[in-house]
Amino acid sequence: MNLEHLNELKKLLSSPKKIAIIPHKNPDGDAIGSTLALWHYLVNTGHTASIVAPNDYPKFLKWMPGSDQILNFEKENSQSKSCINNADIIFTLDFNHLGRVGQMSEILESAKATFVMVDHHQEPSDYAKIMYSDVKMSSTCEMVYVLINQLGDENSITPEMANCIYTGIMTDTGSFKFAATTSNTHRVIADLMDKGAEGTEIHHRIYDTNSPSRLHLLGCALKNMVILEDYSTAYITLSQDELDTYNYQKGDTEGFVNYGLTLDGIKFAVIFIENKEEGIFKISFRSVGEFSVNDFARKHFHGGGHTNAAGGKSDDNKEETIAYFTSLLPLYKNQLQS
Ligand code: 5GP
Ligand code: MN
Repeated sequence: MNLEHLNELKKLLSSPKKIAIIPHKNPDGDAIGSTLALWHYLVNTGHTASIVAPNDYPKFLKWMPGSDQILNFEKENSQSKSCINNADIIFTLDFNHLGRVGQMSEILESAKATFVMVDHHQEPSDYAKIMYSDVKMSSTCEMVYVLINQLGDENSITPEMANCIYTGIMTDTGSFKFAATTSNTHRVIADLMDKGAEGTEIHHRIYDTNSPSRLHLLGCALKNMVILEDYSTAYITLSQDELDTYNYQKGDTEGFVNYGLTLDGIKFAVIFIENKEEGIFKISFRSVGEFSVNDFARKHFHGGGHTNAAGGKSDDNKEETIAYFTSLLPLYKNQLQS
């Protein structure tokens, strides 16, 4: 965070405040890890803080210290609303435009609080008075770590906070594999281990707690994979019927999109997952190298994200969505073949 914004934040936090902390809709490990770490920090330093998530999040994140107090805006609506309306400060973490919180955007837009953004996605919008936006960062969790250090409170990182921050860095970097993983990321991880983060236990809780039905759904997804060699592209579809057949639970499709990139020569991997309730296909895009899925998602599928990992949606049916998607590929043939 630059000095001007940091000083402003320091001033704001110099007396006890009422604070709401908001992750994006369908929160992932980084969103939940960063909001929880910040929540522990703020509560431990004398503030009244609550996390309000736009909707539910996967079971494999529910062991995280403090997760039992996260409010779900869909289920605990009036409590969530009063937290937001009464807040002096609202931290928004792991997203950078208010559309990313779904139904919650209206109440955030009318909130009187001072907004603080901490985020690593591209093209931030300007709703926050205090901004910490850095697209080079591996994760919002790494940024929360840096921010606590900048506030001079590195010694206040407890084992609970260390576990939360470790989790978000691990999940957002694909276990320290993606290009945004820097030597500094590893230094942060080393320090978190010194402060009590249990790396092996975290890996186990996130990656080795699958249900049989999730693995069967993965089998279905891999069978459905279509490989378009001419465009170095692989895509997967999962219909609502298929999700139902395998007793889909929130989070079960996490990471499926990455299997496309494990194929030799594939640079662009996509998964289209039907959500009948919302009447959409939720789409995840992944790439390796220069091809920007952020641009692709933003331009064609109402989405965005990072250069190599982005998301979006389609309001059309499966056939129309796939036809539209494949019709776009020739436009990118040069980038995908190079
Ligand atoms: P995932 O595919 O894992 O849901 O998301 C990949 C990345 O893209 C994440 O950083 C996520 O925050 C972002 N993302 C996912 N869906 C959307 C979307 O609909 N809009 C925008 N702007 N970003 C998204
Ligand atoms: Mn993130």
